[in-house]
Amino acid sequence: MPSNDASAIEQEGPDQAYRSRLKQGIFALPKCKSCNELHFFPRVVCPHCGEFELEWQTVSGKGEVYSTTTIRRKPERGGNYNVCLVTLEEGPRMMSRVEGVDSELVEIGDQVIASINNDDDEPFVVFTPNKEG
Ligand SMILES: [Zn+2]
Repeated sequence: MPSNDASAIEQEGPDQAYRSRLKQGIFALPKCKSCNELHFFPRVVCPHCGEFELEWQTVSGKGEVYSTTTIRRKPERGGNYNVCLVTLEEGPRMMSRVEGVDSELVEIGDQVIASINNDDDEPFVVFTPNKEG
């Protein structure tokens, strides 16, 4: 029997679907077909209105630092690093980190831009300062 692509995507689950897009270099989030809101972390149901009909929308990657923390670590263990919450231009807020700048210089309200870190087996989204504003 030929396989059905649509059901294959559904069976993949929202988490897998999100990661498989990241692996292809695509930063996309589920968008609700009913209320048009995007959300993160990806779920099967829209957390805003309960709708099941979702589609994947590629996001700009632009965001603003909502909160920032420096996790202190000894230099021999990799040094301090940043943990932050970033509010994306499209609305969802995600936990990540800001790279490319001293963690303690990251401030609330900073404009940042997403990139996909593919160094490990599991790709994830990180942010760097967005100098274009
Ligand atoms: Zn919705």
